[in-house]
Amino acid sequence: TPAHADSGPSSFGSSRIDTGADTSWLNAGDIQAALADNRCEDAGLVREILAKARELKGLATRDVAALIQIQDPALLDELFASARWAKEAIYGRRIVLFAPLYISNFCGNSCTYCAFSKENTTLKRRALTIDEIKHEAEVLIDQGHKRLLLVAGESYPNGLKYVLDALEAIYALRLGNGEIRRINVNLAPLSVDEFRQLHEIGIGTYQIFQETYQRDVYAAAHLGGKKRDMDWRLTAPDRAMQAGIDDIGLGVLFGLGDWRFDVLALMNHAAHLEATYGAGCHTISVPRIEPAHGSDFSRSPLNPVSDADFKKLVAILRLAVPYTGLIMSTRETARMRRETYALGVSQISAGSRTNPGGYAAHAETVALPDEDGREDFDASQFSLGDHRPLDVVVRELAELGYTPSFCTACYRNGRTGEDFMHWAKTADIKQKCGPNSVGTFMEYLLDYGQPETVRAGEAAIARDLAEMGDAERRVSTVILDRIRAGKRDVFC
Ligand code: SAM
Ligand code: SF4
Repeated sequence: TPAHADSGPSSFGSSRIDTGADTSWLNAGDIQAALADNRCEDAGLVREILAKARELKGLATRDVAALIQIQDPALLDELFASARWAKEAIYGRRIVLFAPLYISNFCGNSCTYCAFSKENTTLKRRALTIDEIKHEAEVLIDQGHKRLLLVAGESYPNGLKYVLDALEAIYALRLGNGEIRRINVNLAPLSVDEFRQLHEIGIGTYQIFQETYQRDVYAAAHLGGKKRDMDWRLTAPDRAMQAGIDDIGLGVLFGLGDWRFDVLALMNHAAHLEATYGAGCHTISVPRIEPAHGSDFSRSPLNPVSDADFKKLVAILRLAVPYTGLIMSTRETARMRRETYALGVSQISAGSRTNPGGYAAHAETVALPDEDGREDFDASQFSLGDHRPLDVVVRELAELGYTPSFCTACYRNGRTGEDFMHWAKTADIKQKCGPNSVGTFMEYLLDYGQPETVRAGEAAIARDLAEMGDAERRVSTVILDRIRAGKRDVFC
């Protein structure tokens, strides 16, 4: 059993079992060697890799390393064009929307970059009661959300039961036509037993960001608490898989270590999961480090990722693991988000708050800041880059040629893990995504859309229908007719 320094009030982990999952797949030596190989200087070879990427079967570590090192602007343009093509080929125009729901900012860890760090004495601490959690979820349902990401620091008022009660309470809510249909969670590593309890409640994806795969950087950024044990974190997805959770979300906190190393290590991690459990990761998140109130950035290892490198890494991930969802949060500014959608992002958050209770407080008191505005963030985890409300983001997506989607169909039809990958890889998933995205978008427009958004949305749906193949259009038309007639939650 790994050793754990203790933390704040009643964290869980009483029954931690070392499942013996090994971490040799990380293979730092091979990653360094791949990065030292200057194959990117051979334009012909880079073009061969891009052609291979367009077969949509993913890429090997050496090939990803070559793409990472591209500097030539013409080759970069070709990389971006290939990523755009792959995104369209697999996902069409859809972009799935969700909101994070922070239930507690208590934490027993000392992460140098995070405002929730236990050493941050200036943070206003708050663990929401179940009633407060329900109220937060109701505000989000009233905005039109169907999919949440539950988030907390690593310390809970009542152990894992606190989280389980929160999940159950949110799933039980009904508000007019609204409800939350899928809750993903971003929580600290658990034991197999604890993961099993989460699985039984019916979570969607279990998301965990490794932060960095570089051991020295990890040690420098995680100064106290259970999170210091890097292997306990590295093996969390193994334990989740062993507990039956087959949708796993991986991620790196970009800006801590060398992004090039971390992207390759992330590939190795996904490959390990695929080889061991039959399904790689369901999603990859690409958070970039943001200023965090009261956190001591001067003690944090920092290797900022430029906007140009950020776009490059998104495009590379799209080609390296074409069937994996790519998630971009409101850490990024509205401008960066606009520029990155086309390169392969398939899921985004919108209208987010990272302080527990932030949605209800906001709904009751203040006017929304504009997209460049900064909010008071003395209880928040970090500063946000995109403050726009959901409806504005939805409208913009439609106007930019995307289809905002609130779909949760795969999860509820049992298309998860290996099964989802099978659907995705045979390209049949597009037959599902098309109808389900226009269907859930129509639900949004009818129940929550502002008049301008309804206009932009109706035009986007008409455009989508016109572009669909006959079978897809027939299914979409049936779904849309039923929704217009007042039915809800119609999906295929
Ligand atoms: N406490 C759990 C953990 O650390 O795994 C789960 C929730 S934590 C609130 C979610 C993620 O927020 C972390 O994994 C980290 O990547 C991200 N995060 C923390 N501080 C951040 C910052 N200053 N800027 C951007 N993302 C940050
Ligand atoms: Fe706690 Fe997670 Fe923040 Fe670290 S990143 S201080 S574990 S909430």
